[in-house]
Amino acid sequence: MSLPTILLSNDDGIQAAGLRTLARRLSDLGDVVVVAPDRERSATSHAFTLDRPLRCEEVEKGWHAVDGTPADCVYLGLLKICTTKPSLVVSGCNHGFNLGSDVFYSGTVAGAVEAALRDVPAMAVSLEWSRGMRHTPEVFETAANFVHALARATLAEGLPVGTLLNVNVPQRPPPKGYQWTRLGKRVYRDQVDERKDLRGRHYYWIGGPAEGHGDVTGSDLHAVRDGLVSVTPLGLDLTHAGLLEKLPGWTVDGFDAVAHKDLHKERRT
Ligand code: MN
Repeated sequence: MSLPTILLSNDDGIQAAGLRTLARRLSDLGDVVVVAPDRERSATSHAFTLDRPLRCEEVEKGWHAVDGTPADCVYLGLLKICTTKPSLVVSGCNHGFNLGSDVFYSGTVAGAVEAALRDVPAMAVSLEWSRGMRHTPEVFETAANFVHALARATLAEGLPVGTLLNVNVPQRPPPKGYQWTRLGKRVYRDQVDERKDLRGRHYYWIGGPAEGHGDVTGSDLHAVRDGLVSVTPLGLDLTHAGLLEKLPGWTVDGFDAVAHKDLHKERRT
């Protein structure tokens, strides 16, 4: 039996140590194909390059550098570069957590989302990273060992259509276990730093440092705080079911609310 294909990407760029470690560690589970941005594209979320062509260079065998975003890379990887359909897409391992609301900004998570949109099982992987932390090879190994075990489980179990896994690995001390979690609430300092350029015009640096988290039971933030690897199942359906139930009670002056036919039928019976 031929080995499954595993597509790897990231948002820190093809040179990133986290990506290299994962590629090496996962190589016994399948044929690893790397399609990654040619430079760092962190916090690009699901940006998709439509205003110019993309260039792709095979920098070494099986390693493809693209001058685009993580979503571009996974799209190209799945539709063009991989000769057989991947059984798994892994995005990471990101240099820094992607917890709580980070998932909306993260290029790492977007790489996995792009795979999930195309019905390919996927996980995003992120590793704790902060100033003053030493980034030894062992730090990446710990994350890579967990991802290896979880990738094996994912290949065996599969994931439902429209879902993906968001994995966060704390690094100090090395995690003793893992926990299935929900997204918590990460809090950053609101910050807009206004400065003046040489011509007297204003410019802005936006985004402040992380400042803790909200108290959400069972959250990803609690798990990593407790020294555990966090695995959050994410769904692509952002519809708020509860609100969808409540909103038909609204009055929108001058317009009739048309009930959904199926919903109407359900109510009559
Ligand atoms: Mn990154």
